[in-house]
Amino acid sequence: MNKKLVAITGAGISAESGIKTFRDSNGLWENHDIMEVASPQGWQKNQALVLEFYNQRRRQLHKVKPNKAHHILADLEQHFDIQVITQNIDDLHERAGSTNILHLHGELFKSRSSNNSNYIYEQKDDIKLGDKAEDDAQLRPHIVWFGEEVPLIPKAAEHIAKADIVLVIGTSMQVYPAAGLVNYISEKCQLIVINPDDTDYNFEKRAVHIKEKAVKGMEALYKVVLENKL
Ligand code: NAD
Repeated sequence: MNKKLVAITGAGISAESGIKTFRDSNGLWENHDIMEVASPQGWQKNQALVLEFYNQRRRQLHKVKPNKAHHILADLEQHFDIQVITQNIDDLHERAGSTNILHLHGELFKSRSSNNSNYIYEQKDDIKLGDKAEDDAQLRPHIVWFGEEVPLIPKAAEHIAKADIVLVIGTSMQVYPAAGLVNYISEKCQLIVINPDDTDYNFEKRAVHIKEKAVKGMEALYKVVLENKL
């Protein structure tokens, strides 16, 4: 039986596809104060601004492609039983061919009713003011905003607790409750971090840190796997 590998990914794995990370932009996301565009308060204040922000992100997502780091992670399914747990709202893991993906913070290519989170739709194009769900409520992006509950956390924690290997790629692990997931890693689990910067995760001391960008880091990891060293 293959070992179970859980990959926790964040904005850094998509950076080399041309999507900006959040922390690397001085706390702004594409020049916006995060609370203006990614919080229930921001939505109350200015729905048009929030919709336009995500419309732009969606249009950008149509133009970018998965990079080699996404592809290598998908290829590793030949060697491991892999669960991807991503904080990313892009669909680059899907397009690269990964099969088991949990999107903790939602998905850009989906929308939902602003009154009922059970009404979820495919959304490849812009959401406009006046676009309604079947309960007649305004459509909003299917994104978990700051301060909202993250419904997939228990499922993610279950996967992490069972992992033989946890691979953390391109995330600052500063956004809670996702950041708390590392507390579920078992003692016997092997830990690998791919991040070009120093990190201060609480498990960092016992992790192998490949201090490279995602593509170079995943190429190095793939080599180790092919040499049967993992
Ligand atoms: P973050 O912006 O907080 O952290 C990015 C991390 O990636 C940093 O630790 C940085 O050192 C590292 N990094 C930068 N370039 C890298 C590269 N080329 N290769 C590997 N690592 C690199 O991102 P986060 O931890 O994912 O949290 C930010 C929140 O913003 C998440 O909730 C996420 O949903 C959202 N977000 C998503 C996207 C996306 O979907 N692509 C993009 C920006 C922000």
